[in-house]
Amino acid sequence: MNIVRTFVALAVLAASSAFGQDAPPPVGPTPPVTTAELTDFTRTMTYDQVRAFFGTLAEQSDRVRLDTIGTTNEGRDIPLAIIADPPVEEPEDVKSRTVVLLFGDIHAGEVCGKEALSMLARQLALAEDEPLLKNLVVCIVPIYNADGNERFGADNRPGQHGPNEMGQRENAQGLDLNRDYIKLEAPETRALVRFMNTWDPAVIVDTHTTNGSHHRYTITYQGPKNPAGDGEILSFVRDTMLPAVGQAFEKNTGYKAFFYGYFANRGTDHAKWVTYPDWPRYGTPYRGMRTVWPFFRKPMPTRRSRTGCSGHLVSAAKCSTTPMNIATRLRNL
Ligand SMILES: [Zn+2]
Repeated sequence: MNIVRTFVALAVLAASSAFGQDAPPPVGPTPPVTTAELTDFTRTMTYDQVRAFFGTLAEQSDRVRLDTIGTTNEGRDIPLAIIADPPVEEPEDVKSRTVVLLFGDIHAGEVCGKEALSMLARQLALAEDEPLLKNLVVCIVPIYNADGNERFGADNRPGQHGPNEMGQRENAQGLDLNRDYIKLEAPETRALVRFMNTWDPAVIVDTHTTNGSHHRYTITYQGPKNPAGDGEILSFVRDTMLPAVGQAFEKNTGYKAFFYGYFANRGTDHAKWVTYPDWPRYGTPYRGMRTVWPFFRKPMPTRRSRTGCSGHLVSAAKCSTTPMNIATRLRNL
């Protein structure tokens, strides 16, 4: 299985997990269940519930190793689950396999990734024969913005389908972690970049949830697009990989997928489909400039097919960082 087919299978599996199409659990101890599944998708997991879910999974599967990528501003460990067969403790154990990183909750009100990646982890960990693990080491960080996740509120994501209450977009410092990749002001960003430096993942999946303008695409995705990155990767992801993901996703679920965007003027101008810039302070352009592959996003696990995304880019990161501070932080990672 080559990397394209492998990644397409993984991406479709991740997306399908959000739609309740994961395999039936094997005979044995009761597998962990997400809060979304337990509540008909009206509630989402707290930090402690995520840790309990993955703790149970690690008890039930030899493929799962639990670790942390670092610590949040408020001192919470950022959980990391490394799923591999045979299992992996350190980067040296990876051998010839490809490392994939999937993370959820960078914007902690956008909870779909946290829930869906937990369901995906369960499937990869407990399936009797999981062909994806022949080639991949799957690293999952389900609750990256853990501090933001714990600030539950009913109004944190107006118009978003999903739970009744959810976390906030920013971290505990009030920073948007998806605008922090150049200045590295948040401890969460520094932890993630340190993980990338250490484990060198070839593919990174960064999950978001959209709200706002209504359109036909249940899932949207975006890859690297800054021309300063590797041109072959850029065109391959845009022209081959992501369209293949979209086609396979539609074939498996019946839902449509397309490149991330939204109608202009806060969803009111249906003559224009717009998207975000290629600045590397955003995660996807940043990772593309590191010659890492794509980005994928999805709505809250729900049976509804309507989704949208205006208002996604209104937050701007606060910056109190000088170039010298940035250089110092990079050296110290
Ligand atoms: Zn987001």
